[in-house]
Amino acid sequence: MKIVVTGGAGFLGSHLCDRLINSGHEVVALDNLSTGSKENIMHLLDNPNFEFIQIDLSEKLPEDLKAAQIYHLASPASPNEDSPKSYHKLAFETMQVNTLGTWNMCELAQKLGAKILFTSTSEIYGEPLEHPQKESYRGNVSTTGPRSVYDESKRFGETIVAAFERSKDVDGRIVRIFNTYGPRMDEDDGRVVVEFITAALRNEPFPVFGDGEQTRSFCYVSDLIEGLVLAMNTENTRGEVINLGNPDEYTIKELAQKIKELTESESEMVFEGERPEDDPSQRCPDISKAKELLGWEPKIPIDEGLEETIKYFRN
Ligand code: NAD
Ligand code: UDP
Repeated sequence: MKIVVTGGAGFLGSHLCDRLINSGHEVVALDNLSTGSKENIMHLLDNPNFEFIQIDLSEKLPEDLKAAQIYHLASPASPNEDSPKSYHKLAFETMQVNTLGTWNMCELAQKLGAKILFTSTSEIYGEPLEHPQKESYRGNVSTTGPRSVYDESKRFGETIVAAFERSKDVDGRIVRIFNTYGPRMDEDDGRVVVEFITAALRNEPFPVFGDGEQTRSFCYVSDLIEGLVLAMNTENTRGEVINLGNPDEYTIKELAQKIKELTESESEMVFEGERPEDDPSQRCPDISKAKELLGWEPKIPIDEGLEETIKYFRN
């Protein structure tokens, strides 16, 4: 089957391309390389079943694109304001790709009669007043705060997919991804797992924002990719919104301690002041819907996933 993966040169997108190619599919990866890298797909470039097209999805798409399925992952994803690859620094590009880009991909799905899967985010729940977060929770998001360029454009992206599904007969579904980590994460984009692993390997301090009592739930990349493939291919997922993530919840302090132990590092935590504005104080997915509908749940325990990720960054 021919499958388009947008954001195919990114962290998650490149693992998805691998998974689809290994299952015998033809894959066309679309990416503008704004936060992704050709390094992530270098090993696929000579594969006759793989094609890479460098393109900005917010602009016009090539006329001759063909596919039976579209995984739409393209979007900056890092909240770290200091990184040039964050959605803060790429604010307008982030808003465009999640709205115009999503619209373009839905039009393509309509034209081709292709299925589409849009990767939304746990960020659409904002600072959650319900814990853990179920798909039915509508969120607590600032429309104008510093994270709004990402959160609100993902929210509108969901609206676009839902409207094409409802009114234009597009076979669309939405996956809300919770923090996912693993090899090929960008060393410079500032997300916490990479910051802590690279700090540990250099015996430098772990930079903790706030008191480190905020929580996140970390899903290993291979688990997440299986969830995406199931969400695309399982019957009765059309029109559905599905959380994918690992429900094991840790404070950021606990994460630092875990990484310290696994790397046998001498690093200590350093408290860098207030948490960034609108940084959620807790986050944990309720995955009962994914369990029921897809028969999916994460399999990789955090220690094993972190070991693999540490191995990648050691090399
Ligand atoms: P990433 O930055 O590694 O990958 C995103 C890819 O999209 C990059 O290769 C980038 O170059 C590409 N891209 C960005 N704008 C584009 C545009 N206008 N046109 C074409 N390509 C463009 O990030 P990731 O972690 O792999 O995230 C992939 C998707 O999953 C994103 O939509 C993100 O919002 C979502 N997500 C990820 C996580 C996570 O923890 N990794 C959590 C929630 C949601
Ligand atoms: N964080 C931290 N130090 C860092 C990077 C992140 O303490 O160097 C915290 C951040 O404030 C947040 C959590 O770790 O509370 C997760 O941050 P990340 O950037 O990975 O993603 P988020 O879940 O906020 O989208």
